[in-house]
Amino acid sequence: MNIRVLGAHNCERQNQKLVCLLIDGVLAIDAGGLTSSLSLEEQKKIRAVLLTHQHYDHVRDIPALGMNLFLGGAATRIYSIPAALDALARHFLNSEVYTDFRQKPESNPTLKFTVLEPNKAETVEGYTVTAVPVHHGVPAVGYQVTSGDGRSVFYTGDTGPGLDECWRRVSPQLLIIEVTASDKYAEWAGGAGHLTPFLLKQELASFKKVSGYLPPVMAVHMNPDLEEEISVELAAVAKELDCSITLAYEGMEISI
Ligand SMILES: [Zn+2]
Ligand SMILES: [Zn+2]
Repeated sequence: MNIRVLGAHNCERQNQKLVCLLIDGVLAIDAGGLTSSLSLEEQKKIRAVLLTHQHYDHVRDIPALGMNLFLGGAATRIYSIPAALDALARHFLNSEVYTDFRQKPESNPTLKFTVLEPNKAETVEGYTVTAVPVHHGVPAVGYQVTSGDGRSVFYTGDTGPGLDECWRRVSPQLLIIEVTASDKYAEWAGGAGHLTPFLLKQELASFKKVSGYLPPVMAVHMNPDLEEEISVELAAVAKELDCSITLAYEGMEISI
């Protein structure tokens, strides 16, 4: 399984894009820096997009992808929980802000929405995908994606602390988890449904307790202005827990 980081941040700058991952060139998770990172040919190869929740930084490029695929004569499926799909339909693809690509063209709609049931393994384009509820300000899920050869990644999307239940449902070889802010914002982050290095340390300790191992960890969704502090604090956590924690960056590729 090849994982390409198209966006690793929660705010956009010239060199930082909103969070978005691409698995094997065909399965995207979240759609922050999706269209701005890929050629039209690459966009046409996307068979499915999994959305973790409805927040703008995670869904932004869905309308743009719709237009590109529509003009390019292609189509794709968008998978998520009802809250995220409803918000996208109501606020973006509403024929007012942008074209409703769920209806266009009538013969073969460009964007086909499919609802996923939490905690139920589904087959999506040859991958086994499980949407696992996490803790955020709006309904949100993380995704475990397992390839045909049994390689698994779990991406939390945006989440605050308290993932014990979630850890019981996943067994990844790579954990991609959000670390939005540095520890001086830990109190805010916990309440807002985000993590800092200190909060991550507690969640990783809980993962190890539940699962008996710790996979390599990749941090995403960093606030670019806090990234240096986050990096120093994560290095200390990695040392303390004796595990690998890397910060994702745009253009990073990893094989598991
Ligand atoms: Zn969010
Ligand atoms: Zn976010």
